[in-house]
Amino acid sequence: MAPDEPRSDCIFCGIVEHRLPAHVVYEDERCLAFLDLFPLTRGHLLVIPKHHVDRLKELEPGLYGPFLAAVSELCRRVERLAPDYNVAMNQGARAGQIVFHLHVHLIPRYDHGNPFAVAHRARLDDGDARELVKILSPPAGR
Ligand code: 5GP
Ligand code: ZN
Repeated sequence: MAPDEPRSDCIFCGIVEHRLPAHVVYEDERCLAFLDLFPLTRGHLLVIPKHHVDRLKELEPGLYGPFLAAVSELCRRVERLAPDYNVAMNQGARAGQIVFHLHVHLIPRYDHGNPFAVAHRARLDDGDARELVKILSPPAGR
């Protein structure tokens, strides 16, 4: 199956095809945004490309612009609810992804507090930093 064909087993493809209900707030030819069914805060939105891909790295480059434009438009609209918000993407099960159709979360924040805060964050280790730069600097596919 081509990566961008609708998947019958994908909830978000079902929403794109109007097989499943959703509270849609934005739609264009290539992207859709709707309310999260289990919102972390009031107004929690999801922005998706209509074509099915599970991760950002699978998105065809021609959709980078349209997708980011849709996210940006929804950011402006979310500011009608709250001036501050998180723009987040979970990529893979260990990162908390439960729906494997690419989506950006827009989560309005009504209170102070860092949702990514953990009890303790150790300072970056210099040796590990050198190793990480070696791993991460070369372009993908080399
Ligand atoms: P993930 O954890 O994959 O990054 O986020 C998936 C999001 O989709 C979750 O925040 C979850 O609440 C939301 N979600 C799951 N099922 C449905 C659904 O059927 N409809 C809508 N609108 N959101 C859903
Ligand atoms: Zn899908």
